[in-house]
Amino acid sequence: MVRHKNSGWIEIICGPMFSGKTEELIRRLVRAQYAKQNVAIFKPKTDDRYSDDYIVSHNKRKIKSIIVESSDEIYELKDSADVFGIDEAQFFDDGIIDIANKLAREDKRIVIAGLDKDYTGKSFGPIHQLLVDAEYVSKVNAICISCGDPASFSQRISSEKDLVVVGETDKYEARCRKCFKP
Ligand code: ADP
Ligand code: MG
Ligand code: ZN
Repeated sequence: MVRHKNSGWIEIICGPMFSGKTEELIRRLVRAQYAKQNVAIFKPKTDDRYSDDYIVSHNKRKIKSIIVESSDEIYELKDSADVFGIDEAQFFDDGIIDIANKLAREDKRIVIAGLDKDYTGKSFGPIHQLLVDAEYVSKVNAICISCGDPASFSQRISSEKDLVVVGETDKYEARCRKCFKP
């Protein structure tokens, strides 16, 4: 029987804003690059903070990435890499679920970072199904701006009501369960 030494899998890094998701994603992808693996990194078009073709963390670490408008574009590039990094996964269409699973079945490693909760505290976009499908889930916390406890909520401090409002500390704060006001 022919056996692959390494089959594919899905890793999720989730948590609120400022919890170090992008930092952790970059850390894992850079390590894969050190191991001479081919790495491709994607982010959705919605996230236009800082820089066009880099994934940038709040502490300004960055890594070259490809901006895509839909999840299909990721699958079209499947032959370009062994390791696929995806940031801000909550902004992708549900097609990302199928694509992550297909890539994993084709022996790719997929590392997905994204918000688990939207600003009302509800599950954000395709993330909940990806959490179910993943082999590995890391949930990271930020520090609550009000009390210093571990923060797993993103408090919107601007008055906008749209689900997607891209912003930084001008619009959001990390908050713990007690300090979060939905
Ligand atoms: P994420 O991708 O989860 O939004 P990043 O990886 O971009 O997070 O940024 C994490 C960095 O954000 C931290 O290392 C720290 O420098 C900074 N930061 C800003 N506000 C906070 C906070 N309230 N709690 C923790 N880190 C914060
Ligand atoms: Mg991030
Ligand atoms: Zn708090």
